[in-house]
Amino acid sequence: MHIDILTLFPEMMTGVLDSSMLKKARDKGKFSYNLVNFRDYSENKHRKVDDYPYGGGAGMVLTPQPIFDAVDAVTNEKETSPRIILMSPQGERYTQQKAEELAHVEHLVFICGHYEGYDERIREYLVTDEISIGDYVLTGGELGAMVVLDSIVRLLPDVLGNTESASRDSFSTGLLEHPHYTRPANFRGMTAPEVLLSGNHANIATWRKRESLKRTYMRRRDLLDNHTLSETEKKLITRIKDDEKL
Ligand code: SAM
Repeated sequence: MHIDILTLFPEMMTGVLDSSMLKKARDKGKFSYNLVNFRDYSENKHRKVDDYPYGGGAGMVLTPQPIFDAVDAVTNEKETSPRIILMSPQGERYTQQKAEELAHVEHLVFICGHYEGYDERIREYLVTDEISIGDYVLTGGELGAMVVLDSIVRLLPDVLGNTESASRDSFSTGLLEHPHYTRPANFRGMTAPEVLLSGNHANIATWRKRESLKRTYMRRRDLLDNHTLSETEKKLITRIKDDEKL
């Protein structure tokens, strides 16, 4: 996978890209990235990339020319389907399902906005996807692009070790993950559930499934609407409701 990130503030991203899992994944050759300052593509003699909005109003708008030219420069006409992703609070709200979809794409191009917004022709004629990382407004698209990129790269084959497999994570299963405990079994009188120390793998699996369902039911009931419950899961939910007097 190759990822181009179009931004006016490339320095915001180098620390993230050169740390932890993203650094390891790059060192292993699982993905490559290129930070592109789209100001370098401006044809304006002062290298301006923004202008006043037609019709007046507050804030500056990113002009189309530098962004269209930067995208042209990093994509190749022969490429079948690079995804051109506009970071925007008005986009589709980002999910694990979207991360799983994008993890199969060979070439991603992120466009990070700033200021009041983009000239609408960028949205209409250039991008394939418009992604929001949540219902709040950031100063720029850089932090959002890093969130999206991190969640995609960790899904690439052989990036995570077995012990940190992404397939059991919250949302990948459609549910929130079960709670975890580690040593000591008794910490200041707070004890880990006995079943986890029992060595009985079937009982541990049942406990985990029940806790995962319970946590999802208590915290994110909306996720259950999109999750097809098996007969066992339905029974577990009934029992959870009885036990918790819900
Ligand atoms: N005026 C715009 C609006 O109301 O939709 C908000 C512009 S915001 C200050 C500047 C840039 O930050 C956006 O163009 C986008 O790239 C990025 N941004 C802000 N919030 C975001 C979010 N929730 N998700 C993704 N990108 C966001």
